[in-house]
Amino acid sequence: MGLAKYREKRNFGVTSEPEGSSAKKSTKSKLAFVVQKHQASHLHYDFRLEWNGVLLSWAIPKGPSLDPSVKRLAMAVEDHPLEYGNFEGVIPEGEYGGGTVMVWDRGTWTPENADVDDGLSRGELKFSLSGKKLRGSWVLVRTARPGQRNSWLLIKHRDRYASTADVELEKPRSVSSKRLMRDIAEQFAGNVSKAAAADPGGDH
Ligand code: MN
Repeated sequence: MGLAKYREKRNFGVTSEPEGSSAKKSTKSKLAFVVQKHQASHLHYDFRLEWNGVLLSWAIPKGPSLDPSVKRLAMAVEDHPLEYGNFEGVIPEGEYGGGTVMVWDRGTWTPENADVDDGLSRGELKFSLSGKKLRGSWVLVRTARPGQRNSWLLIKHRDRYASTADVELEKPRSVSSKRLMRDIAEQFAGNVSKAAAADPGGDH
């Protein structure tokens, strides 16, 4: 896919999001994953997997669940540059995705499919995560609904990392800065009350 769509949607003179160099091979041997909590017009969690020099991306309205009986809707969105995984801050209101962004989790991922590209095109990607909050085995499956090729489900597999704990509620802080959403909005002159509504105890 590349980064054309990503760039088309953004005005880099206004937003501080990275423009990103073109898709490139990471020099690290392990593949990165990141989950960014994003309070835009609606709160969601952006789930990103490094693949072929970009971050494949899904927007998950409710965020990942550690409970294998819970399927979380994950809408495939445009590829993001690898540099995006370090972005925490505020996208100006009125810009695409305007609102506060937190690095909610990150680490490395390992494909469990022998052929990742084949899994992506068939709509079933199995993988394990090694992050601070998300660990163990997961699957992304494309839903069968016709005309909804972007619609996937993220599901935790049963393993020792499965749990009924509400990880969004119990671990709300940034893994890169330990901040809450309101702290990030405050630091980067964003909308503090809107961001605070996405923190536990916020009025959402
Ligand atoms: Mn987003």
